[in-house]
Amino acid sequence: LLESTRNDVIEKDRRYVWHHISPYNDQVPPMVATEAKGSWVTDIDGNRYLDAMSGLWCVNVGYGREELAAAAYEQLKILPYFPLTQSHLPAIQLAEKLNEWLKGEYVIFFSNSGSDANEVAFKIARQYHQQKGQHSRYKFISRYRAYHGNSMGALAATGQAQRKYKYEPLGTGFLHVCPPDSYRRPDGVTVEEFNLQCAQAIENAIIWEGKETIAGVIMEPAITGGGVIVPHPVYMEKVQEICQKYGVLLIIDEVICGFGRTGKEFGHMHFGVKPDIVTMAKGLTSAYLPLSATAVRKEIYEAFKNSAEYSHFRHVNTFGGNPAACALAIKNLEIMEREGLIERARILGERLREEMMELLEHPLVGDIRSLGFLMGIELVESKKTKEPVSLETIGKIISACKKKGLIIGKNGDTVAGFNNVLTLSPPLSSTDEDLDFIVNTLKTVMRQF
Ligand code: PMP
Repeated sequence: LLESTRNDVIEKDRRYVWHHISPYNDQVPPMVATEAKGSWVTDIDGNRYLDAMSGLWCVNVGYGREELAAAAYEQLKILPYFPLTQSHLPAIQLAEKLNEWLKGEYVIFFSNSGSDANEVAFKIARQYHQQKGQHSRYKFISRYRAYHGNSMGALAATGQAQRKYKYEPLGTGFLHVCPPDSYRRPDGVTVEEFNLQCAQAIENAIIWEGKETIAGVIMEPAITGGGVIVPHPVYMEKVQEICQKYGVLLIIDEVICGFGRTGKEFGHMHFGVKPDIVTMAKGLTSAYLPLSATAVRKEIYEAFKNSAEYSHFRHVNTFGGNPAACALAIKNLEIMEREGLIERARILGERLREEMMELLEHPLVGDIRSLGFLMGIELVESKKTKEPVSLETIGKIISACKKKGLIIGKNGDTVAGFNNVLTLSPPLSSTDEDLDFIVNTLKTVMRQF
């Protein structure tokens, strides 16, 4: 590209595009991506980067799949739009397919984003309790550090102060408990005991808030964006037991963990729990088109259907479950099945873990956590005090990786002072060479710190 054209693009970007989160930085203009294939993205200057963050957006099958483009194109030609107040074939076919992946009987409500899917879950949960005559059940319990979306309810459920404090008041009736962050458990307590205590905190919240006031508990199988916090299996078992004991719906947010990322179809399947509601988005279309889904246990749906007063669920959304996105999603799941990408995620995840564990010797690396092909590397100033590294240090590590052609992320919460977890989440279609590149680049960079 001619220099003048490049500068023109950057200038127009600065003038017209309001970027998510980042303020415009004249010294370091944003990366302007122009094309991508597999795990690699090319920018406007022709630089290539391995996008090991793309998995947080869930480009699970990798970039540049022509089959996906073709599936959307073909559907756009036949039937580009029809509302789901009625129905259409791609939605029906996809809902059936999702039941296969969920290994249970669920009815699927389609919408556009992960935030939407969670809002739908909250509204369904409240209305479900209402039609049973339990009008006081409106509250939801979630965890600190979790992210559940950017709309006023999903943000209220989010447990990261950095995302919330400028926008309050948010939706009401959302409470938070501590996540099972085993790395920071008190001395002398085993991981298992600590996880049981964290689950117990949910029961305590239910009791002290008033058990007749709680509609649901929402959680990811493992907290992803909040620092990759993976529970011990006893935690999820106990959470399910508590929800059942108090008639509280268990909503599992699979927006990142779903669709193979963790080495299973859905993350909750590692823990043998049977959620009442499962929310999903990103990986459903490998992020190629906006589409999300709220899968609701059949009995809950039946309760709506059989109620004269409550059979309407007043939540229309124009674009939700549009035919092209559904057709693309069906093709996306077909690719995952054909290429065995769930198993591939498990294998790649194991290899990544084996390779990375040696970094635990590094003075800045406090903990390494992973589930499938999602990894968090927690960086600390001192292993003894576990004080998080500064934003400056983690920023330098990420920039050094980028200079070498590797995009990685950081996660956590700036307000709480814990924005200190490097996050790796490459496409599930990554090749062995891609994995070697990630491992070698990160190890080389860490040697400089
Ligand atoms: N839940 C989780 C766990 C997420 O990570 C996200 C997005 N990062 C959302 C919900 C919200 O999804 P969306 O950005 O599509 O609204």
